[in-house]
Amino acid sequence: MPFCSTNCGNKAILKRPKTGDTLCKECFFEAFENEIHFTIERAKLFRPGATVAIAASGGKDSTVLAYVLKLLNEKYKYNLKLLLLSIDEGITGYRDDSLDTVKQNRDDYEMPLKILSYKDLYGWTMDEIVAEIGRKNNCTFCGVFRRQALDRGAHLLKVDYLATGHNADDIAETVLMNILRGDLARLSRCTAITTDSGDGIPRVKPLKYTFEKEIVMYAYFRKLIYFSTECVFAPNAYRGHARILLKDLEKIDPSIIMNIIQSGEDLKVNENAKIPTLTRCTRCNYVSSQDVCKACILLEGLNKGLPRLGIGKSSKVKRLLQENEEKETNRLVCNGKDNTCICKNSKVPIIK
Ligand code: SF4
Repeated sequence: MPFCSTNCGNKAILKRPKTGDTLCKECFFEAFENEIHFTIERAKLFRPGATVAIAASGGKDSTVLAYVLKLLNEKYKYNLKLLLLSIDEGITGYRDDSLDTVKQNRDDYEMPLKILSYKDLYGWTMDEIVAEIGRKNNCTFCGVFRRQALDRGAHLLKVDYLATGHNADDIAETVLMNILRGDLARLSRCTAITTDSGDGIPRVKPLKYTFEKEIVMYAYFRKLIYFSTECVFAPNAYRGHARILLKDLEKIDPSIIMNIIQSGEDLKVNENAKIPTLTRCTRCNYVSSQDVCKACILLEGLNKGLPRLGIGKSSKVKRLLQENEEKETNRLVCNGKDNTCICKNSKVPIIK
């Protein structure tokens, strides 16, 4: 390896995937951290003195996010109070092990940790859901439940922001995925660095412009402890196709990742395009684009032995819901013990 291209006098030990610069370890750390600081400052991501929940999975992205936010918070005096928020989906051999890593992060970074489980919130683990639905649409359930669980956790913790570890590759993948699916509503907002969940707690992505390969390098050279096993249900996730496509494109030119993000940012949505408006779920009061939110529909399907209820077109879902409601009007009485109903006795927290 040649000398570090910053002329610091040290030997370079790596070539940055993002810029092609050959750098020594210290100069890489500085460049990596400064870019994240610049992203935070330019987008004014955090209000000074705010409380921030970091969505922590124990994986490389959230581990690096927690480490770097702690470091920058001290170095640049953001004056933030940082917490860790984890969701236990109930996936044996994956989440149980990765939560041990999160607990290690809690101790290493001295941040309070809150863990919420699907079992407590919804009455189902992902293992149980997969046993019902199979391995085709499992990520639909998992993604919808996780998103809502994180928002519920953020409410419980009364934080001002929810920071997620989405990196540049994730965002480029999401752009591609939304194009492939023709999902204009999601395409128009998936590159935003701050998104409004509609509940007043913004979600922010400080690693939006950080390449996945550099996150791995950073974690490796900083000797950070993270969990690297893939979810046991991952191979069939639709996102995997977009990921493979992106990796192939990246081999041709790494700047494709940033180009895709920029294309997403500059995209102008046709004024006549139908974009759903946000309202409140009539059952759980969670923000939704439908009368009944996706999580409630999926949950109802599971609880009534119709696991495919929330999969597919919303008109079909509406019809099935109506049919079921008619049948169940006199039967759906809460027994106060399980989570099958979203009434005042249910353990599912209602957002006020
Ligand atoms: Fe959940 Fe699918 Fe991700 Fe596994 S791969 S954690 S099932 S969304």
